[in-house]
Amino acid sequence: MAVFSGEAHFNARPVSETLLSATRCAPVTLSVDSSRMAARRPAWDVVVIGAGPAGCAAAIAARAAGAHVLVLDRARFPRPKTCGDAVSNRGAAIVAELMPTRPLPTAPHARVDSGVAILPDGRALSRQFRGAPGYIVPRLHLDALLADGVRASGIELREGIAVRGLLLERGCVVGVRAGDEMIRAAAIVAADGPGSIAWTALAMPYPRARRLAVAITAYIEGVRTSEHPGAAEHFFEPELRAGYGWIFPAVEGLANVGVYQRMDRFATQRRSLPELLASFVAAHRDRFADSRTIGRARTWALPLSIPPPPPVVGGLLLAGDAGRFVDPLAGEGIWQALHSGLLAGTTAARAVDGAGLDRRCARAYRRRCMLDIGVPSLARMLVQDTMDAIITHRLHRFAAVREFLRRGYGSDWLEASKRVR
Ligand SMILES: Cc1cc2nc3c(=O)[nH]c(=O)nc-3n(C[C@H](O)[C@H](O)[C@H](O)COP(=O)(O)OP(=O)(O)OC[C@H]3O[C@@H](n4cnc5c(N)ncnc54)[C@H](O)[C@@H]3O)c2cc1C
Repeated sequence: MAVFSGEAHFNARPVSETLLSATRCAPVTLSVDSSRMAARRPAWDVVVIGAGPAGCAAAIAARAAGAHVLVLDRARFPRPKTCGDAVSNRGAAIVAELMPTRPLPTAPHARVDSGVAILPDGRALSRQFRGAPGYIVPRLHLDALLADGVRASGIELREGIAVRGLLLERGCVVGVRAGDEMIRAAAIVAADGPGSIAWTALAMPYPRARRLAVAITAYIEGVRTSEHPGAAEHFFEPELRAGYGWIFPAVEGLANVGVYQRMDRFATQRRSLPELLASFVAAHRDRFADSRTIGRARTWALPLSIPPPPPVVGGLLLAGDAGRFVDPLAGEGIWQALHSGLLAGTTAARAVDGAGLDRRCARAYRRRCMLDIGVPSLARMLVQDTMDAIITHRLHRFAAVREFLRRGYGSDWLEASKRVR
């Protein structure tokens, strides 16, 4: 497959100091004395690119395993991030594990005790979370909380610094270029989201069609509460094929409202994301009659966890969106970012303590991510396709189909496909 060409391209590089530029795919040979650089010990055990959920989880896990860790982020915290802000109970559990003294509810939040799927005819299927709530935590607050956790772990977090390229030796990643600085490390974790610097370095094509989703979100004040208070509401509608619209419980008076769609379906219709959001809001006038959008609506891409996985390279692990780990059915990526980040941080720290982060270690990490995230995501894409067929052909009119959906959604078997070993 095309994405593996990155691996071949890598192995074909001469044994020299090579920098893969962020801005172009062609490698740039640096005018540095490679024998001197090779002799130098890395300044850091682990360098993490990006301090979103994946990067923070990786950094805290690596530090807990004894590694000397540096985190670089081009943004300064607190900063907003385009997201639905829903953290599942599994995500909340990882935050509690990483930062026992800073659980999620210490940030502004809304507790979510149930999920509701609303069919085009208005009928609702609901699922109770039974004592394991999820939370809506605006990313402004969630990511600031995680960044605080990183600093509190004694990790150096450098903000406002963009990584521009990866440093390579003998086909292995040995550092990063940030500004004019070359920073060497025994292991690099790329957790810099979609369009990661590592994608350029590995000549990975940007995912398309069934491997990508798009979404738009806005904060809306004055949204009327529904008959399902405290529920995360997902609206399945014919114009949002392989996707849905959402209204999440308000935090500090602002509800996160948005529209999500898989790219192959989005591409077949001629409406933009802002038009889809406007049409979703108009279709639910009862909820938005007295509402006001605060700020502007924001769009962003979601790289879905569908094979083939990214290539394996010594010295480098891809976590979160950079590893393309978003669940296709729900568009959930925060748990996946935290989980893969935790695995990446632990793997990196153990490896640098032992023989080093070679391709074998990187492959074992990728295999574990595929088992925990990739395989369930494939199953959930099948569920998504089934749901798409039901909504498109209006099969939900039939009681037997509704009963099938009720059992599927209400009895947790969809969640079973996400369960982690
Ligand atoms: C509209 C929308 C709604 C969503 N809703 C939900 C939801 O409700 N629940 C859910 O679970 N998931 C949701 N997702 C998915 C979720 O937002 C992502 O999966 C998640 O943020 C991935 O975390 P991450 O740490 O991998 O990347 P990010 O959160 O994107 O963090 C990457 C970090 O890297 C930094 N960075 C980027 N490039 C560089 C560079 N060159 N140098 C240094 N730093 C860099 C960025 O500043 C950023 O801080 C949604 C996504 C979208 C687009």
